[in-house]
Order: sequence, then C-alpha cells, then structure tokens
Amino acid sequence: MPCLSTRGSADAPVAVAEALRRGLAPDGGLYVPTAIPAMTAAEFAALRGRSLPEVATALIAPLVADTFDEVRLAALMASALDFPVPLVRPDPHGPYVLELFHGPTFAFKDVGARTMARWLAAVAGTGDARPLTVLVATSGDTGGAVAQAFHRVPGTRVVVLYPHGRVSRVQEVQFTTLGDNVAAVAVEGTFDDCQRLVKAAFADQALAGAHRLTSANSINIGRLLPQMAYYAWAILQLPAGSPPATVVVPSGNLGNLTAGVMATRRGVPVRRFVSATTVNDPFPRFLATGTFTPQDAVPTLASAMDVGQPSNLERLTWLFDGDLARLRAAVTGLVVTDDEVLATIREAAAGSGYVADPHTAIGLRAARLADGDGPVVVLSTAHPAKFPEVVEPTLQRVLPVPPSLAARLALPVVATRIPPQLDALAAAMASTP
Ligand SMILES: *Cc1c(COP(=O)(O)O)cnc(C)c1O
Repeated sequence: MPCLSTRGSADAPVAVAEALRRGLAPDGGLYVPTAIPAMTAAEFAALRGRSLPEVATALIAPLVADTFDEVRLAALMASALDFPVPLVRPDPHGPYVLELFHGPTFAFKDVGARTMARWLAAVAGTGDARPLTVLVATSGDTGGAVAQAFHRVPGTRVVVLYPHGRVSRVQEVQFTTLGDNVAAVAVEGTFDDCQRLVKAAFADQALAGAHRLTSANSINIGRLLPQMAYYAWAILQLPAGSPPATVVVPSGNLGNLTAGVMATRRGVPVRRFVSATTVNDPFPRFLATGTFTPQDAVPTLASAMDVGQPSNLERLTWLFDGDLARLRAAVTGLVVTDDEVLATIREAAAGSGYVADPHTAIGLRAARLADGDGPVVVLSTAHPAKFPEVVEPTLQRVLPVPPSLAARLALPVVATRIPPQLDALAAAMASTP
C-alpha cells in the first residue's frame, strides 16, 4: 500500500520503502497509508492464539506489501518483537494492563524502534558510502529505544537529541553509553526545541543531503505501523465474547494513539480510546475547543509525555478527515496531574500490590474516569525501574533493578552539549563519527 502525505501535496504516493527512508514527506507532511483495508470480524477472530509477531504480520502485511512480502515481514517482526507483552489484571475488578515495557530499554517504544530499525536496514540499500544518519529527538524513551535498535547496525548511525537535564538518569544512559555508531546531543532547551531542530535539519537541504538524514521519531511511518499490532494482541487476549474494550493510552506525541486508531480501521474492535495526558494537554484542549494551541511544555513526573506540540495530531486529524465530531466520538481526552500520579502509584501498590511507573499511573487514573461499559485496557508504557526517582520515594522502598539496566548505569555518560540552534547541531553532527 503506497503512502501519501497528510498535506495532500501533488506528489505521487510513494512506496513504504521510500516513506521509511524519508521520514517526513517533502511537503512537510507526515506519511499515511493511502488506504487501510479492514479485516472482517471472522478474520480478526481467527488470529486468536497466534503469537504477537504473527498477529503483527497479519495486521501489517497489506499495508507494507509494496515493500515486504509476507514471509519477509514475518521474519522481521519475529526478530523485532522478541520480548513478552503480557496482558495482566492486577486487581480482578480493575482494568487490564498491557505491559509493553519488557523490551531492551524498558519502554513501549522498543516495539516501534526495533521494527523500524530492521525495516530501514532492509531497504537502506548499499552502494552509498555515507551511512544513513538517523536523527531523533527524544523526550526520554525514544532515544534509548532507537539508539539500541540501531546500535552497530552496519551502514547506519544515530544522533539522539535530548533536552539537557530533563530526562531521567535511567533514560539518559540508554543512549549516552553505547558509543560506536550512536552519538548523543544534549540540547539546552525543551523536547519541543529538540523536535524543532530535527524538523529544521530535515528542511535544510545541504544538511539533510550531506548526512543522508532519516528520522526515527514517531513521524516515521516505520515506527507507527508496528504499534498497531499490540492493540490487536491485547483485544485477542481478553476472555472470548468480551464486549469491545475501552483502551486508555498515556499520550504525548500521539503516536501510540494514532496507531490505535489505525488498528481500528484495520478491523480491531475497540469501543473507545481514552487519551490521557499530563498537564501538557494540547490534545485534550483541542478535543474540547476544536482549536489547537501549541504550548511550551512544562516538566511533570511523566516526562516522556511532556509534549506541547504533538506532531502526530496532524495524522490523527487526517484519519478523521478533519472532522472534530468523529474524532470526539472515537477519543476522549483526560488530564492527570502530578499529585494524582503520586496518589495513583500509592493506591495501586496498596490495593493490588501493582507497581506502576508515572506514565502508566496516568493511564490507571484515567481508567477510573472511563465509563463502566465493557473491559478497560490500560497501555503500560514504561517499567517502574526506569523512574526510581519518582516511584521509590512514593512507595518508600527500593525497587529491584533489572540486571541489564544495572550494568548500563555503571557506564560513563557521553554527550555533546549545544544551545538550541541549527548551526550548533550542524557543527555537532559534523564532528561526530
Ligand atoms: C513516548 C512515551 C509516551 C507517549 O507516547 P506517544 O506515542 O508520544 O503519545 C508515554 N509513555 C512513555 C513511557 C513514553 O516513553
């Protein structure tokens, strides 16, 4: 299925392979599939009992058929999604929780990043001596997921931009301790500054050309498509005959939510989405007022969701033809404060013994506010050990650190610090290997 730009330029649709390589469309829009064919209910039900990579393959195959045949896709998905994604129910009367954080960097972004790295390496082509440079802005978790997914992949290098002092130590070590083909740039500014710099770098013909730039942010279609898979996976694990579920999505840049909406177009039965945000709430405000007002993000306890200008809003509104009423019928927006996050972490631990990270806590809190019809599935986006500075003092206990994480925490952090300006980024990129 070819991809076209959300900005609907006169450019002919491009193959998925080309959309993967480009990241952003030349007109500045985001790539979307030209059509999303829906499975029948029977086709969907037939996926019950299949593995996650098999479900992913069935869901995604028609969307990438111009680039990967089904056998190739199945192999790539099996290699990317090689970690468990359990659906748990800590409290038998409470919501289900889909734990997406058992991958190498302990956050759900491993799903998209690992898949995208494999897809991109498969289509990158040889013959050009310059490596493909993956330029990525991170509010915390993307950087690690992308850096580790591409680490030592021949013909590629990764440059991670992150807001200096605004990511947790556990997040920072995921992309500043790898070396080899991974470089980290600490930007004196916010995540939005990092995202703006990435966009400016792509728009700068000389810079983009000199480095064979590509993007691994959720603006890249290769990050988005694989995320459709776990919506199907979660629904397939509910008891047979369950009514359609409400899915609660802790949201920042809205990539996760957009993938969920695309999954429903593909035939995955979801009753309704709840998009839960921090007080950085441009999307809930947009739903309420119909007007998008970019905000300067303020830091909260759920730092990976502190986004004032969610780039996937453009894709999301495109999916609804810009029709606010239809978007509102599919998605409810809810805002959760830091105080509510702390209270939810405490209450979940006291009630069912479940230890939630701050992002998952936002989902758990929003689930309480969702209405009572049908099962509720909360997407758990990060491992609590990734945010010990929040969770440990709140629960007044020390959390066990997964061994691979402990090893990484012992390594030195290496990053180039720059002001939030394109020339400074260009200089940093010219001087990294
Ligand atoms: C990135 C991230 C989010 C937000 O996801 P989006 O796709 O940007 O909306 C939520 N939780 C965690 C832990 C994240 O890393």
